[in-house]
Amino acid sequence: MTLRPILIHPDPRLKTLAEPVPAITDEIRRLADDMLETMYDAPGIGLAAPQIGKLSRLLVMDATKEDEGAARPMVLVNPKVTWESESRSVYEEGCLSIPEQFADVERPAEVEVEWLGLDGKTHSERFDGLWATCVQHEIDHLDGWLFIDYLKPMKRQMITRKMIKLKRERARG
Ligand SMILES: [Zn+2]
Repeated sequence: MTLRPILIHPDPRLKTLAEPVPAITDEIRRLADDMLETMYDAPGIGLAAPQIGKLSRLLVMDATKEDEGAARPMVLVNPKVTWESESRSVYEEGCLSIPEQFADVERPAEVEVEWLGLDGKTHSERFDGLWATCVQHEIDHLDGWLFIDYLKPMKRQMITRKMIKLKRERARG
């Protein structure tokens, strides 16, 4: 397994619609392994392939809370939301591509998601709580959409300016 560098906003690859994965191959399995490793290392609870520059519809997540015990690494290929609840919830979201910036985002409180597993089978599950927020945030990435795109333009521009500055500082090393 290899840690992959995570792209930082703004980057055109984070604003691009990702392509469906045509088949589960060894390359896709390797990519998923690398993404899980990269996510846990960051640390984060979700990572979508475009965040490491791969424009494929693949995401990994593990929104298990520390006090809930065992980790539950999940790999979702070609995920899509098939149902969403009318009730909504607000979470303070962050993103590995927008480090140290957080903002409240309102989303459906529960969603049902269908995806292709690494076993080549179709899976379907209903998510709530942090899992629901996480899976919706990650699917947004596959559509070139970031959590800051839900915010008012002023706030979004302020965060973007901070990220440009951060990238400049990191480039200088
Ligand atoms: Zn994100």
